[in-house]
Amino acid sequence: MRHVSSAVLMVAAVLLSPASRTAAMATPVRPRPQIEHVVILIVDGLRPDCALLADTPTIHAMARTGAYTFWARTTSVAITLPSCTSMLTGVSPAKHHVDWNRDLPAGKQAYPAVPTVLEMATRAGYDTALVAGKSKFVALAPSGAVTHVFLPAAGGKCSDEEVAAEAAKIITAFRPALMCIHFPDVDVVGHAKGWGSPEQLAQIARTDRAIEQVFAALERAGMRGSTVVVLSADHGGAGRTHGGEDPRSRHIPWVAVGPGVRPGYDLTQNVRIEVRTEDTGATACWLLGLPLPPYLDGQPVRDAFAPGS
Ligand SMILES: [Zn+2]
Repeated sequence: MRHVSSAVLMVAAVLLSPASRTAAMATPVRPRPQIEHVVILIVDGLRPDCALLADTPTIHAMARTGAYTFWARTTSVAITLPSCTSMLTGVSPAKHHVDWNRDLPAGKQAYPAVPTVLEMATRAGYDTALVAGKSKFVALAPSGAVTHVFLPAAGGKCSDEEVAAEAAKIITAFRPALMCIHFPDVDVVGHAKGWGSPEQLAQIARTDRAIEQVFAALERAGMRGSTVVVLSADHGGAGRTHGGEDPRSRHIPWVAVGPGVRPGYDLTQNVRIEVRTEDTGATACWLLGLPLPPYLDGQPVRDAFAPGS
């Protein structure tokens, strides 16, 4: 495992010179001014029914106090990197062109065809962060796109506990306006022991404790009252795998908590709403007051928020 944030920060400092940064920046006007921070939690491979069946007091508390659906859908490929790219760019894989799901060879690294919301926020002058437990997420952190980056060394992974600890450090030190935190272990145990296996349910319980650590860090930083946290997943799974149109792979949880979020609101009460993973990026874009690019496939999940809150 290697901490790469200093290297990325150096590049960011070079690329985002004051002149170019000012030129790109039109001061964002947030629709809900009390929401100053957005945190996106990606639990790799978290199938909604498993999230509910496992011992998950943090996720259950989020649903009780926030807006949720356990019928959200990921992309039709339902594998990690293309789906996470859709989540964070707000577009389908056909538009972002990230069709690989592995570390690319040295010197061959490629990036999405459209910017992630992290990059859009960085360009608008926000402090941003990406903490991921799998090294292939380097595809979502081209130079200058994210202010603070923590990734394992190429080919590696780190545990959900390590991810939570690194995220807590960044929260404490920098209080980023937009942060994406990826927890890898539920997927790892799913491949080893099976989706819905006792071992995976036990891992989901451990991941829930790691998520609790993120909330504790937000509390310590005095950010709880000004932060919307969205918990979701890149895909589910069945047997020891995932992918394609299988509904057990395509359904993901989507739970939002924070100021102005409707408490205990099941989004399926509005029959017209079917949350898609692309909506997560669009929602973050909207909450940060960034212009919604016209090419987006996703749209903000406005129904999760009390009108005019
Ligand atoms: Zn997997």
